[in-house]
Amino acid sequence: MTSVPAQDAPAEYTVEVRPTTARIDHAALANNLRRVATHIGSDRRILAVVKADAYGHGAIDAARTFAAQGAWGLAVSLVEEGVELREGGIHAPVVVLGGVVPGSQDVIVHRQLTPVVWSLEHLHLLSAAVRRAGARPLSVHLKIDTGMSRLGVLPRNLAPVLEWFRRDAGASLVLEGVMTHLACADDCEDDLSNARQLTRFADCLGTIAASGLRPALRHVSNSAALVRFPNARYDMVRPGIALYGAASGRDVQLPDLQLAMEVGSRVLAVRTLPAGARISYGGRHRLERDARVAVVPVGYADGYPRSMSGQAQMLVRGHRCAVLGVITMDVCMLDVTDLPDVRAGERVILMGQQGAQRLGVHTLAEWASVLPYEILCGISKRVPRHRA
Ligand SMILES: *Cc1c(COP(=O)(O)O)cnc(C)c1O
Repeated sequence: MTSVPAQDAPAEYTVEVRPTTARIDHAALANNLRRVATHIGSDRRILAVVKADAYGHGAIDAARTFAAQGAWGLAVSLVEEGVELREGGIHAPVVVLGGVVPGSQDVIVHRQLTPVVWSLEHLHLLSAAVRRAGARPLSVHLKIDTGMSRLGVLPRNLAPVLEWFRRDAGASLVLEGVMTHLACADDCEDDLSNARQLTRFADCLGTIAASGLRPALRHVSNSAALVRFPNARYDMVRPGIALYGAASGRDVQLPDLQLAMEVGSRVLAVRTLPAGARISYGGRHRLERDARVAVVPVGYADGYPRSMSGQAQMLVRGHRCAVLGVITMDVCMLDVTDLPDVRAGERVILMGQQGAQRLGVHTLAEWASVLPYEILCGISKRVPRHRA
């Protein structure tokens, strides 16, 4: 996808032709991890969330950077994502948040992934897989549903699960961690529900301790929670978006985070068009003046959302230029009338800084009426990632 074989050249010789690229700043990723570490204090660990290809930043490379900066481990959503990390040479603990899909238990054991579990079925599947493989006991983290109503064992159903661990006595599975997830961590209006969830979690920890189990890692906090709830940091935190330099909302962000992804392109062509010309599908944008219009090879198939049409801007020569008309699958049009020197090949910044101007992920998210997460995860695999 990122490169094409050059004609009349040896097969292994390739040239990069895609002008639309994402630059991943690993110094920024490292800085963000250190910022979180400083914020939570040295007695707590970090489970760096690298699901969804590290929110679009490249899972293996990001995992390496986070591990090198002292993250205890990495979290992914899928077993497949965990296998990708192992094949990429990551040896740190890899927690699989998405549970144990039947059929995945042997791979989990073989790759020594750390699954999140919440049912007796999970325990039976994994325990059988460990015995089949003759493997050493596998670490698991138990998830409790304290009010998110998504994944986890309900507090009232905890007893049989604890009884299972007690009987197994570490022969096949080791209860290394206990966790929950807050539904309203970034919702400053709803701290009652956060308090309720944290109380339920504390109650469950009491029940677990009373049953004689001693999980070493209790963890609750995503990026927003680790900022907002110092009492929810426990032994480990689970930041995702903060490590990439963003936040779920502008008001729950740690200071001094650096946006790690820059998305840029180059002008494909510059057209001179008369006042009255209609731009792009539907002809809904009509030029009010004679204009110079730069064609930029980026569209919604690259993850530049069509819903930003009419609002989006890009940076050229440090100036904000308006995207004209509807964003198409592969291309959009940019008003460069006020920048008469702009030619094909000119650098364009879609997200990032140029000169004194900056387009952050929160700005793009607002234009598109989506979350910053969706912008970052949405930058598609058609956009080559380059490491900076
Ligand atoms: C994605 C995820 C996180 C990270 O959330 P951020 O808001 O990106 O910090 C933490 N915990 C769980 C269970 C998750 O699914």
